[in-house]
Amino acid sequence: MAKAKRRPQKRKTAKKKKKLTAAQIKRRVRYALIALGAIACFAVGFLEYTGRIDILVKLGLRDMPAEGEELSVHFIDVGQGDCTLLLSDGKSMLIDCGEAQYSSTVIKYLKRKGIKKLDCIVITHPHTDHMGGMADIIKKVGASRIIMPRVDSQYTPTTPTYENFLKAVKKADLTIDEARDESFTLGKTVIDIYTSPYKGENLNNNSVIVRAENGANSFLITGDCENEEEALLIDKGANLSAKVLEVAHHGSSTGSGADMLDKILPRYAVISCGEGNSYGHPHDVTVSRLEKYADFIYRTDKDGTVVFVSDGKGLSVKTQKGS
Ligand SMILES: [Zn+2]
Repeated sequence: MAKAKRRPQKRKTAKKKKKLTAAQIKRRVRYALIALGAIACFAVGFLEYTGRIDILVKLGLRDMPAEGEELSVHFIDVGQGDCTLLLSDGKSMLIDCGEAQYSSTVIKYLKRKGIKKLDCIVITHPHTDHMGGMADIIKKVGASRIIMPRVDSQYTPTTPTYENFLKAVKKADLTIDEARDESFTLGKTVIDIYTSPYKGENLNNNSVIVRAENGANSFLITGDCENEEEALLIDKGANLSAKVLEVAHHGSSTGSGADMLDKILPRYAVISCGEGNSYGHPHDVTVSRLEKYADFIYRTDKDGTVVFVSDGKGLSVKTQKGS
């Protein structure tokens, strides 16, 4: 009787083991990972909601907020264009300024920040969405120094906007410093300028690259740099690593390649683009790629002006439209 009772039990156990096929195990592991991911997301959200950012900082999931200010970086909303202001220990640098129609917006912003004269202007490349308002800014605010890339004479723009800019520079008794690879300090920030080795008619690939470093925090502004320039910058060994990246060419699919992002490894990405712009910027493929690297992606068309504050260790970010 006892033997007869045991047999069916053994068969039952063997049957149960057979049921777990490789596909079933994979499915269960996948469900477990999804559940763990959901729990982790909920935990992070809960800690943020309850203000326990300190725990997230200890876990390396968030930056410690800045307690003071050694550098502030302002990605100013100028619609479909770029405009970045760096302020560090009383020194100022304006990188690009958007189209001419935004010059009054930028001038008001600079005045509000108490800037009487800019210490440095960098024009990444001579396209109007980057330097359209520069003539007005030079006239009404002024600058001690202007850096711009050398452009082969056959590709130099002949637009009225560009001519106005040259006239304003001359009238202000300034000269344009042809960009060269150099490093200098702006207040408590180290600035690295990288020129593009690209030779050709696509001025986007002639963009000057600016890297700003304040202690543990670094920023990379890349103008409209596309894949050809990215490859050349990597080849020449430029230091491209940055915690905060201003995404090249308004989030176009012609830039922000995986090789470039592997070098930058951004934690924050800012895309400067206009709402409903005709180029479809930022392109979905670029945003999807950025999401693999950056924990936070800001867009000036949705967030308005985005401002980062660094105290050399901590980093805080605020947007015009909240968050
Ligand atoms: Zn542009």
